[in-house]
Amino acid sequence: MQMQMQGPIQGSFASLEDDAILVAVEIKAKAIVAAGWEGEECLTVGRPGRWRAVHWWSSLIKEIYVSERTFSIIKPDAVKKGDAGAILAEIVKAGFKIVSIKKISISKAQAEGFYHVHSARPFFGELTEFMSSGPIVPMVLEKVNAIADLRKLMGATDPAKAEEGTIRKQFAASIGENAIHGSDAEDTAAFEIGYFFAGLELK
Ligand code: ATP
Ligand code: MG
Repeated sequence: MQMQMQGPIQGSFASLEDDAILVAVEIKAKAIVAAGWEGEECLTVGRPGRWRAVHWWSSLIKEIYVSERTFSIIKPDAVKKGDAGAILAEIVKAGFKIVSIKKISISKAQAEGFYHVHSARPFFGELTEFMSSGPIVPMVLEKVNAIADLRKLMGATDPAKAEEGTIRKQFAASIGENAIHGSDAEDTAAFEIGYFFAGLELK
């Protein structure tokens, strides 16, 4: 589908299949022009269940990014130490929207279900014991490129190898007790979100 923009911003959309999004983009573009916007800008337009950010250069739309959701847990070590608030602040500062969040405790069996992909690894017992050892803060996060960006913000699994400024570098003590979890791919994010949150909690 192609659509020519009317009004002060002139540009064309290609490969957008949803009329509702096009209308929302047009309305927002006009509002931005009316407000005297100049230069590069990022807009977010939405429809139920899906969000898109649209980047504008000058008067032409160049790229369309689909915003995505990822799943994260502030692990028991960080909650116990009182670092949950500081970690959340890092996450929000990095541009993530918190879609849903709660503080819960899980059983060893529930931790085993969550980390089932690691069931054959030698550290599986230690990992699931740890994850069920105290309250955790699971959450669903949203932004453009959320999955990769959260992994980057978390830092390497082993905090000794994590880059300066990352969450694990700042808050984790060891490879086993490493403060935060983040989904590593789209399919694992979908599984992990559904493991901890019901549809009603994800509006
Ligand atoms: P997470 O899945 O928790 O976000 P990750 O993706 O960085 O961490 P994985 O390889 O998925 O790392 O391992 C899952 C978790 O298992 C790690 O976060 C860590 O707590 C634990 N783990 C991984 N490797 C080891 C190890 N060699 N010894 C002890 N624990 C480990
Ligand atoms: Mg992992």
